[in-house]
Amino acid sequence: MSLGEFELIHRCFQRATPKGVVAVGIGDDCAVLQPTPGCQWLVSTDMLVEGRHFLSTVEPDRLGHKALAVNLSDLAACGATPKAFFLALALPRADAAWCDAFAQGLFALADAHGIVLAGGDTTAGPLNVSVTVMGEVPTGQALLRSGARVGDEVWVSGSLGDARLALEVFRGRLALPGEAFAQVRRAMECPQPRVALGLALRRLATSAIDVSDGFLGDLGHVLKSSNVGATIRADALPRSALLAAQSTGVQRLCTLTGGDDYELVFTAPSQDHAAVVALGQSLGVRLTAVGQIDPEPGLRLTDAQGRLFDSGLQSFDHFKSP
Ligand code: ADP
Ligand code: MG
Repeated sequence: MSLGEFELIHRCFQRATPKGVVAVGIGDDCAVLQPTPGCQWLVSTDMLVEGRHFLSTVEPDRLGHKALAVNLSDLAACGATPKAFFLALALPRADAAWCDAFAQGLFALADAHGIVLAGGDTTAGPLNVSVTVMGEVPTGQALLRSGARVGDEVWVSGSLGDARLALEVFRGRLALPGEAFAQVRRAMECPQPRVALGLALRRLATSAIDVSDGFLGDLGHVLKSSNVGATIRADALPRSALLAAQSTGVQRLCTLTGGDDYELVFTAPSQDHAAVVALGQSLGVRLTAVGQIDPEPGLRLTDAQGRLFDSGLQSFDHFKSP
């Protein structure tokens, strides 16, 4: 069944607005938002374009999930509490079943994080999903890329590389048995943003970033912003058992430059090592120390024997990568 623009908005996206920061939500020309006293707003936009960020084969509920997940991941990286989001949607057709499934995936994740859809825009066009998220932190407490200090340890949440492994299978460069493929495909299509971890890190981390373009490039942004360098034990980067069963070359490609991981990379003073370990245990999130911050600029990799090596790898860049 095909819907009109307003039918679609009403049917799929308009819901009762719970009490909170959204004083007026969908249905007027603007949303009216009420900041919590003593807080700053953090705002971020991420767009998903068919053929660039997702394949046409993705299920609509997973696309709805991912469009919000990648944005929540940015709030997580800054230690912000999710509050409100906006959805700009271009659709080739207003197909009711597709839109219902998309909305279901979107709202399941939104409800899990208490974030409210406050408005957006809907148009016909090539499939394109753009989400803007807004979150809050107590004034001055946002976790930034610029805070890493010499001597800090570098930490990674969860594991890296499964989403890239799935992409390699989609591209026909690697083969995996059915259940293994389903697992890495889930990592690619249904990332779980580390919101609770980001909130807790406000007390512990000196800097943080989420891994969207690949570990090397994303940690590189932290190093540049913080005016420091780092030495990373490449073989300490956390990876799934599935990825660990691949060749060293594939493991390094996927963990170092894979991207689409939506894990957090953060730095914390080395004297807080035990506190970070305890935090990981209390949240049930694997946290792995992978290296340290140095005064010398640049990012150095060491192998299992502690020798420096050049990976020859680069993270994803929309205008440079193939
Ligand atoms: P206008 O033409 O004044 O910009 P629209 O007709 O585009 O308003 O939108 C009507 C209302 O529906 C607005 O409140 C807008 O925020 C909301 N809206 C439109 N598309 C979406 C969407 N995809 N998700 C959430 N809200 C939407
Ligand atoms: Mg509009």
